[in-house]
Amino acid sequence: MKRAYILFIAVSIILIDPSNLTVLAKASVQREQFVYICYSASVDLYHKDSICKDLFHCKQLIKVSLSDASKKYHRKPCKLCSGGK
Ligand SMILES: [Zn+2]
Repeated sequence: MKRAYILFIAVSIILIDPSNLTVLAKASVQREQFVYICYSASVDLYHKDSICKDLFHCKQLIKVSLSDASKKYHRKPCKLCSGGK
């Protein structure tokens, strides 16, 4: 009985493992293809990561689709978080 209880706890820990949730969250972000741009800054970059180091001083962060970021706002991928060169 005690062993079954321990097994139950172990399964619960696996199911609610926060790292699993992070993977799911990242997968959904990639599917939606949304990026972040700093609207007020003069830089011409977009960021996949809303907590990118480059956005630290940004006061007006907006979330846009990836196609809008490049076509409408003429942004390029950030070196730090979006794999730009
Ligand atoms: Zn970035």
